[in-house]
Amino acid sequence: MLENKKKDQMNIIYPKTLISTDEIEVYGKKEEDLFHETNPFEMAKKQIDIVAKEMGLNDNIKKYLKRVERSLIVSIPIKMDDGHLEIFEGYRVHHSTIRGPGKGGIRFSPDVNLDEVKALATWMTWKCTLLNLPLGGAKGGVCVDPKKLSKGELERMTRRYTAEIINIIGPDIDIPAPDVNTDPQIMAWIMDTYSMNKGRAIPGVVTGKPIEIGGSVGRESATGMGLYYVLEALCNKLNIDLGDQNVVIQGFGNVGGNIAKILYENGCKIIAVSDIYGGLYAKGGLNISKLLEWRDKKNYLKDFKDEHYKFINNEDILTIKCDILIPAAIENQITYSNAKEIDCKIVLEGANGPTTPEADEILESNGIIVVPDILANAGGVCVSYFEYIQDIHSYFWKLERINQELKNILVNAFEDVYNLSRKKKVSLRIASYMIAISRLAKAIELRGIFP
Ligand code: GLU
Repeated sequence: MLENKKKDQMNIIYPKTLISTDEIEVYGKKEEDLFHETNPFEMAKKQIDIVAKEMGLNDNIKKYLKRVERSLIVSIPIKMDDGHLEIFEGYRVHHSTIRGPGKGGIRFSPDVNLDEVKALATWMTWKCTLLNLPLGGAKGGVCVDPKKLSKGELERMTRRYTAEIINIIGPDIDIPAPDVNTDPQIMAWIMDTYSMNKGRAIPGVVTGKPIEIGGSVGRESATGMGLYYVLEALCNKLNIDLGDQNVVIQGFGNVGGNIAKILYENGCKIIAVSDIYGGLYAKGGLNISKLLEWRDKKNYLKDFKDEHYKFINNEDILTIKCDILIPAAIENQITYSNAKEIDCKIVLEGANGPTTPEADEILESNGIIVVPDILANAGGVCVSYFEYIQDIHSYFWKLERINQELKNILVNAFEDVYNLSRKKKVSLRIASYMIAISRLAKAIELRGIFP
C-alpha cells in the first residue's frame, strides 16, 4: 500500500470502477500499476512507446516526444461575491509548437491537474498533426468546479486566468478553445481580456467564440459532426448500415449531445445516454429530441420521468450490449478492470483518452474496433482551425463550406489511417499515431535541434 502522502503527491486518479483497495486486489493488479494505467500522462507516454516500437522510431525522437515544451502553473486569486478570497490553480501546457502555434482547449474541472493537462496537450499534437493542420498541441485547465461559481465569479476567474497566461498565448503562439465545462461565453471573456491588454480587438487569440465576435458557424456542432463523418466512413468500409445500429453514449454535453442528435436524426436507435449524475436506458430507444430539450433547461437526465426508461449509472452504461459505444465524457473510462465486459462492435472515442492502453489490448483481442480520439473527435479542432483562418483573413465562410471542408479533411485522414492499419496489420490507434509521429519526427529532423 502506498502512504496517503505519496498518493497525494502522485495526483492519483483511479478509474471510477476501482474505488477500494479490496477491489484493486480482486483485479490482481498492483496499486502502482494502476497508477501508471490511469495517470493520463503516463498513458500518453506509454502510447508513444508502443508506437515507437512498432515503427522503429529513433530513440532521440522518442525521448523528445515524451516531454512537453513548457508548462505554466498559475495561481488565480478571486474575490468571491461574499468578500472572501479563493485561490484556484491553473495550467497551460505546450506539448509541441514544432509545426505551428499550440492549439487546444481549456477545461474547468475539480479533477484538473498538471499531468492531465500535459497528456491532453500531447494528444492535441497528434490530433492536429494527423489532420495535417499547421498547428501544434497545447492544453489548459483550472482546478475548479465552475457550477459552484456565480456568473460574476466565473467571469473574474476566467479573466484572471487569461491575464496569468497572457505571455504564452496569442494568434501566433498558442490559441485556446473550449473543452470540458467551457463555452463560447468563456472564450469571449478570454478574447476580451487579451484584446484589452493589447489595445485592439484580436479575435484570432481564441476559437469557439460567439459568431458575433469572430466565431465560426458550425464550430459548436463540429466535434459531433466529425464523429459522424468518421463513423460513416468506417461503416462504409465494413458494410454496416448505420441506421440499423444500437448506440450507447456516455456524456451528454457538447460532444455527446451533438452526436446523439445527429445519429438520432439519421435513424439510429440510441438505447442509453448519460450525464455526470448517471443516465437513462431504454431497450426500444430513447427520444433524444426530448432529452436534449430537458438538458437545455438545465435539468439532469436522472430526473427525467418516463415509465419506459431505466436509470443507469456511468460505470454500467459502458457495459450495455450495443453495436456502437461512444465514450464522450472524460479520460480513463475503459480500463483494464472493465474492458473485458465491453460488448459492442465499435468504440468511437468522443472524449480525449477514454481508453487506457491496457484496455486497448483487451478490446482488440475481443475483436472490437476502436476509432481513436485523435481521429474520431478531431472535428472540433478542425473547425477551430477554420475559425482561426477566417479571423486572420476577416472573411467568413458559409456553413455548407465548413461542413464540406470538415468532411474532406476527416474522411481523407480516415482513409490514410484505415489503409495503413490494413497494410501494417495494426489497430486504428496505432496507425493514427504512426502517421502523426512520423510527420512530426520529419519536422523535427528538418528543423534540427537548436542551437
Ligand atoms: N477541446 C477540443 C479538443 O480536445 C478542441 C480544441 C480546439 O479546438 O483547439 O479537441
